[in-house]
Amino acid sequence: MTPARQTRAQRLAMPLARHVVRDLAAEHGACIRPVQLRRTDLDTGQVEQVLVPCGHTLATVCPACTDRAKTLRAAQCREGWHLEAEPVITPDDPDDEQQMWVERRAQAQQDRDHAAAAEHDTGELDELSGELDEQITRSGLRGKVLPAGPARRHRSSRRRQDTPDLPRRPVSARTIGKTCAAPDGTIYRPSMFLTLTCDSYGPVHSDGTPADPGTYDYQRAARDALHFAALFDRFIQNLRRFLGYDVQYFATIEPQRRLAPHVHIAIRGTVSRTELRQVLAATYHQVWRPPADLVQFADGELPVWHEASGRYLNPATGEFLPTWDDALDAFGPDAQPLHVARFGSTFDAQGVLAGSKDSARCIGYLTKYLTKHIGACHQAATDAEHAHAERMADALRYEPCSPACANWLRFGIQPKNPRADLRPGQCKGKAHRREYLGYAGRRVLVSRKWSGKTLADHRADRKAWLLRTLGISEADPSRYIWQAVTPGDPDHMPPAQRLLHVLADRQKWHAALAEARARASGQDNGVSLSATGRAA
Ligand SMILES: [Zn+2]
Ligand SMILES: [Zn+2]
Repeated sequence: MTPARQTRAQRLAMPLARHVVRDLAAEHGACIRPVQLRRTDLDTGQVEQVLVPCGHTLATVCPACTDRAKTLRAAQCREGWHLEAEPVITPDDPDDEQQMWVERRAQAQQDRDHAAAAEHDTGELDELSGELDEQITRSGLRGKVLPAGPARRHRSSRRRQDTPDLPRRPVSARTIGKTCAAPDGTIYRPSMFLTLTCDSYGPVHSDGTPADPGTYDYQRAARDALHFAALFDRFIQNLRRFLGYDVQYFATIEPQRRLAPHVHIAIRGTVSRTELRQVLAATYHQVWRPPADLVQFADGELPVWHEASGRYLNPATGEFLPTWDDALDAFGPDAQPLHVARFGSTFDAQGVLAGSKDSARCIGYLTKYLTKHIGACHQAATDAEHAHAERMADALRYEPCSPACANWLRFGIQPKNPRADLRPGQCKGKAHRREYLGYAGRRVLVSRKWSGKTLADHRADRKAWLLRTLGISEADPSRYIWQAVTPGDPDHMPPAQRLLHVLADRQKWHAALAEARARASGQDNGVSLSATGRAA
């Protein structure tokens, strides 16, 4: 049939071929932003292109990878929660892929430092380093290639007088909770599900909007969100000292409707409500930073950069602004912290038994929102909700997010590591961005001895299961050299081409898996493949 002549509108109404490929790939559970690697077989000399999933954790970026990440997190949470034996932790040797990422990271660092020395913009290279750091973590290495900057001055050791003392016990190496025996002899190993919230900033309606926006304490809400991760750390330290063992946790940070963060925590072992109340009352985090309440330089009369000295000066007087270190040195014996973060006194705690319906429900809670940005979990629908989100964003806009934040200029202090182009209100720090609601830290916080496995180990478990199911034996990893393929390389595949390969691979893979399942159901009725039969 010869197609009739089409109008422009008719052509526009036709689906774009490329989008169909992408949507089909996503529908088949494939990554839509695959990373291309070149694999050389040292035995045969054969070179192959391998497409590995991007591993993104936001549903808006890559639904399939996000879905897999969430499933993995649930598996990690489940495995550690009711562990019966102490996890054994011995580091493995790094594999070739891990070494390759570290080598690329080294190159990126050198390029970045050269650019910095030549006073070129390092933004893109910093971003590249950040992405490589994520790949390094994803490949199963622990920690970072660079330490997190020089040690900070410690001013937090001063104890607050308005806080009760907590009995402190030496922390033993034990990580497993106690068991209890029922009259019939059954041994139970109870664990806990705990939710901690921020304090009240003023009464709110059921939709989370303030009853009186004029008196709602947005500044305190902003500061609590900025320092939420540090407060959580304090809580865990206190809990360990109070209980006297190395308490393990799997925690996720989520927003409440009032747009304040709260944390769901799966804890191995149990604590009574009375004990929790005691620990919470004694837990606080003091932020020892210069005062940031009085605006000294509003927009329009900002401090100016003095190129020759690399410092900022007051445009009216020509004097240098105090540096970050000057400002810290100025703390006298009566100085007050900029902020004291505490949890609210209301909390939710329940005991959970391994494998129970409760346990599954709680794991659902723990992973529910992980596929979204913290600011996208509750979409504002009404005018009041929009206005509340707007006021929260305003409060976060000028609140200093870190010692290097441009906002310090507004309060008459030169930020740490100053540069020429700093403008208050335009700091690029994640915490200021709407989608983060002031909390720029990690969404999932897992203690080191939770399941005794890294996320990469859990991923490897799934892969091994898949290979077994398909009856494929894994080749010796030392047979291969892995290299990242970059856009300048002759064998580089553009994204559209990669997607076609991914889609084709997926179809073959689905067929192979279906066949393996059919085989298994014929031969082995004991194995339920459908429950776990997803991509490794
Ligand atoms: Zn992906
Ligand atoms: Zn900032």
